[in-house]
Amino acid sequence: MRVLRTAAEVRAAVAGARARNARVGLVPTMGAFHDGHISLMRAARDAHDLVVVSLFVNPTQFGPAEDLAAYPRDEQRDARIAEQAGVDILFAPSVAEMYPHGFSTTIHVSGLTDVMDGAARPGHFDGVATVVAKLFAIVGPDAAYFGQKDAQQVLVVRRVARDLNLPVRVVGCPIVREPDGLAMSSRNVYLDAADRARATALHRALVAAEDVVARSSTSADVILDAARAELRAAGIQPEYLDLRSPDDLTEVDEVAPTALLAVAARVGAARLIDNTILETR
Ligand code: AMP
Repeated sequence: MRVLRTAAEVRAAVAGARARNARVGLVPTMGAFHDGHISLMRAARDAHDLVVVSLFVNPTQFGPAEDLAAYPRDEQRDARIAEQAGVDILFAPSVAEMYPHGFSTTIHVSGLTDVMDGAARPGHFDGVATVVAKLFAIVGPDAAYFGQKDAQQVLVVRRVARDLNLPVRVVGCPIVREPDGLAMSSRNVYLDAADRARATALHRALVAAEDVVARSSTSADVILDAARAELRAAGIQPEYLDLRSPDDLTEVDEVAPTALLAVAARVGAARLIDNTILETR
């Protein structure tokens, strides 16, 4: 595995592989790797000849009061993990390499970003859309892999690719969880033992909703009540708990035949998100 720092080096490496007809897969990340990241690397490895993982804690997607400075960073550990997962290139640029003096372009996806994390974190998806578009321009991948854990992010990135005619397939991969159900996240390290135990309520809320759909009701009110009860029992007040169309994030009042149930909540020092696709069968 090569660790590269500049866009020019990545471009040259990818061009060399392309000359040998390589198919190229990209996994954008902010590092602090866990099994969720590794699952994306494996999915990319399975389908491509050259796998590029970017490791960049993107400042423009953090709000002024958010955890940019505290965000966990351990490049040496991440490099070992990526190498073991069969990654070919780890692109770990500096902030100045990605945002040189005078940088002044932002990509804004309207509509999709007005709700959920877009509403809770103003500017967040502008930062995501802009950095991902830059990564697509630098790497030129055939496909890019994202976790369904950030369901809204997958939709936003897919919209950017479509709207800007970027020839990249945006692949959403399943949420990887801890044995007790907590969705893996680099931010889980912020949880102390008591909050770590409470945090499992997010997944329980999603499972309670799945049970309602399987047994009794497809109505948003009933589903959201069941989910809210699990959160309340753990003393968790959600930032949002929404039932929405998995395609365009418009609010729905029924699972017909699918719906995205998404939750965000502050648990102790961590802001956590999770979601599931509900389906009638
Ligand atoms: P991050 O480094 O947190 O920006 O995440 C990089 C990529 O990994 C994003 O596409 C995330 O959606 C994905 N990811 C993060 N956590 C998980 C998880 N628990 N399961 C699957 N994918 C994940």
